[in-house]
Amino acid sequence: MGADASHEKAQDPTIGGSPPHPHSTSVARTQPKGPAVGIDLGTTYSCVAVCRNGAVDLIANGHSSRTTPSCVAFTHRERLVGEPGETQAGLDPENTVFCIKRLIGRRYNDPSIQLDLKNFPFRVIESSYGGKVKVQVVDRGLEKSFYPEEILAMVISRLKQLAGAYLGRPVTQAVITVPAYFDDAQRQATVDAGAIAGLKVLRLINEPAAAAIAYGLNNSIKQAEKRSILVFDLGGGTFDVSVLTAQDGVFKVVAATGDTHLGGEDFDRRLVNHLAQEFQKQHKEDLSQSRKAMQRLKAVCEKAKRTLSSHVTAVVAVDSLYKGIDFHATVTRATFEDLCSDLFQATLLHVERALDDARLKKAQVDEVLLVGGSTRIPMIQRLLSQFFDGKALCKAIDPDEAVVQGAAIQAAILTGHRYQNLQNLLLLDVTPVSLGLETVGGVMDVLVKRNSPIPTKETRNFSTTEDNQSSIFLKIYEGERTLTKHNRLLGTLTLNGLQPAPRCVPVIVVTFHINQNNILTVSAMEKSTGYANQLKVTDTRGQLDREEMERIIHEEEEYRKQEKAEQEKLEALNSLESSTLQLKRVAVQEASLDDRAKRRVLEICEEMDAWVEGNPCAPKTELEERKRELEDLCYSVITHFSTEGEKP
Ligand code: AMP
Repeated sequence: MGADASHEKAQDPTIGGSPPHPHSTSVARTQPKGPAVGIDLGTTYSCVAVCRNGAVDLIANGHSSRTTPSCVAFTHRERLVGEPGETQAGLDPENTVFCIKRLIGRRYNDPSIQLDLKNFPFRVIESSYGGKVKVQVVDRGLEKSFYPEEILAMVISRLKQLAGAYLGRPVTQAVITVPAYFDDAQRQATVDAGAIAGLKVLRLINEPAAAAIAYGLNNSIKQAEKRSILVFDLGGGTFDVSVLTAQDGVFKVVAATGDTHLGGEDFDRRLVNHLAQEFQKQHKEDLSQSRKAMQRLKAVCEKAKRTLSSHVTAVVAVDSLYKGIDFHATVTRATFEDLCSDLFQATLLHVERALDDARLKKAQVDEVLLVGGSTRIPMIQRLLSQFFDGKALCKAIDPDEAVVQGAAIQAAILTGHRYQNLQNLLLLDVTPVSLGLETVGGVMDVLVKRNSPIPTKETRNFSTTEDNQSSIFLKIYEGERTLTKHNRLLGTLTLNGLQPAPRCVPVIVVTFHINQNNILTVSAMEKSTGYANQLKVTDTRGQLDREEMERIIHEEEEYRKQEKAEQEKLEALNSLESSTLQLKRVAVQEASLDDRAKRRVLEICEEMDAWVEGNPCAPKTELEERKRELEDLCYSVITHFSTEGEKP
């Protein structure tokens, strides 16, 4: 801690309360209470579910799938979210954004972002706003850049729409899941994404904890005695291991660890690189020169990988993959396992770490829950079961669905639904990383230790280091190292207006408050004078401020209005075209119709086709009007000729 001479205007102190985050959910519109859903925002796939009458309904998308790719493609006409977006990836990789969860809440100069950039075919830039990451694409013909929150909001919007259509009324509230070790910025950015999509985020819950809730509901975990549960969550892009205890329906996360860069995508990449080498051997061509070809190969590799979970061989075939060359290869499960074995083995190191953190021996673990699509890989299951000395793993719930089921149950509980089987179900969570302040000599003074149950509030007294110091400057860090230079700076906080006093005399009460969503607020107050008003929090990680959020929410609402208008127009056009087709069919097939009537109806229909062709921008009302005219005219022709009259 050191002196700071700045005298900025103070904010209202809220010591002891639950102060709002500088740009928290308060930006979300006040909305009428509607149904609350659970949303699992995965790195590669996302899903939405709702809990009704104590049972969880998973909501399928228009492609009959209960998981939707977390992918947004920008085309010259529209934005495509989910499956249509994923299809676009092979055609226009630069404008198809995926794995956005890796970018959320991060700054451009973050080393992990720099690593990821190499694998993204789309363009990632540094925004002028606090060094945040932005994605640059061509959206309906215009070059545009979006914050990761905005892209994630497009995925959330899609899920919200699906749930609204399923429930028959708009969805306004949600519980969203996040990886256990998401930091404050990533969590806040996720809340912001929910707000942009027009949702009130009731709570963020950790993915493994959500899975445990789902298992609790299905009575896979006996509720009377205390049980220790290890949740092994290996998804598309992230890997979480958590240790929980369950007793009388109360879950407590006692340890959480993992790797933000380990998952199915990495296994896909190993297979892609292997097959690109194979292509080089077979055809003496370097496939990696073409992003498009690599993207297409990636899509088939992902499918082959899935096949290898249930079969020992998989065929990879792509027509005209590169320079017109067709590619065919067969991959065996053994080859795949060999390519990925170091990655698979690495998961066990995290399991060991989680057990150490929880001070548990592996024999003390009662249940091992498998979560995440990648846990279907037989070698993963084999290694894990061997690690636990042959223990049977819990696979009762579909690994893709456990997390969203838990989120939906939590949403039901938070909105006051008291189903018999949900009663007494609580969830205590822990902080994934230690939090503290920098003190003299750059030493980290930890206020909240890693794995502390949340919500939590820790208060500690500090003082000045110089005589007559007028302000105090606090640097807030997260991390496990003794020196702050090895940890991560979260933000700074300035307390001005200290009364002149010798060093070490003023008592500065610093409070770290972590709320249910694992979001941290730090407050400081000078005890003798109560100077807590003069408090300034500066988040150095550049989250979106209120104005920026308002702008984005407004733009998103405008886009949704335009999209709705465009959709209505397309429906009107479709309706006109289907009327024309139907009338043509009647003219051709209806035997009782007079030949002159047939000819005239066909003529009118062709005139209409020509009009549609020549008026691509016709508004919805005109299309509707034209349809009415077409039907009236054809009807009068048919009735006229059937009563032997003149050509109208
Ligand atoms: P999640 O994020 O939990 O939805 O997991 C998605 C990941 O699981 C993706 O990388 C998928 O390729 C992978 N996945 C899904 N099904 C299988 C399967 N049968 N075998 C191997 N990996 C799978």
